[in-house]
Amino acid sequence: MNSIQGIGMTSRRTRERMINRLIDQGITNHKILEAMRNVPRHLFMDDALASRAYEDTALPIGHGQTISQPYIVAKMTELLVDQRHLKNVLEIGTGCGYQTAVLAQLIAHVNTVERIYPLYKQAKDRLWELKIRNVSYLHSDGGWGWQDKAPFDGILVAAAPPEIPEKLLEQLAVGGIMLIPIGKEHGVQELQRVIRTPSGYEIECLEPVSFVPFLSGKS
Ligand code: SAH
Repeated sequence: MNSIQGIGMTSRRTRERMINRLIDQGITNHKILEAMRNVPRHLFMDDALASRAYEDTALPIGHGQTISQPYIVAKMTELLVDQRHLKNVLEIGTGCGYQTAVLAQLIAHVNTVERIYPLYKQAKDRLWELKIRNVSYLHSDGGWGWQDKAPFDGILVAAAPPEIPEKLLEQLAVGGIMLIPIGKEHGVQELQRVIRTPSGYEIECLEPVSFVPFLSGKS
């Protein structure tokens, strides 16, 4: 066995442990577990941190940002996909691209927006190398959504604004679902689920969460 295969097998084993932990934590959707089994999380971070990739923790990805912990990626994806057949999803906060890669296994087309240029570029290159082709990337402030690609039957926001951006509400299709962490005072955030109905929006508060802040402008 050469060393590359050795690394591969170790990561497969630790990835399988991550999947078992997600099952223990209550993730039941087999398609999502399979998607997370398929995506090599250790390739989404610096070599120095790769050995910790399958721990249930958020890890730094540079520029003051973090890759979300596996549980929160699985939970957000489970809530988004549910029993739906989503065709066109918007993700705000590409970061390292891990959540994007998981979504791309499950959804016909994923549109992802990141405000920090080096993160946008690195994620785009990384997913291309992994032969993931059903993703469009935009370097922009996600507060504007992505008008040219709208409407979206799903929107997933991975950074916490103080309130739901108006453009995201506008670009959500009727019948569509949005998951978004909303930051209250002093860093307390709650995950909200927004469903657009023919007559308006149904908003439900789900659970406390901890995301990086949603910042305006790009860099
Ligand atoms: N799911 C990502 C999470 C990254 S952290 C991952 O697993 O890697 C959240 C990301 O949202 C950061 O990269 C941050 O730069 C980005 N972000 C924050 N505010 C934003 C905005 N207004 N528009 C686009 N991206 C934003």
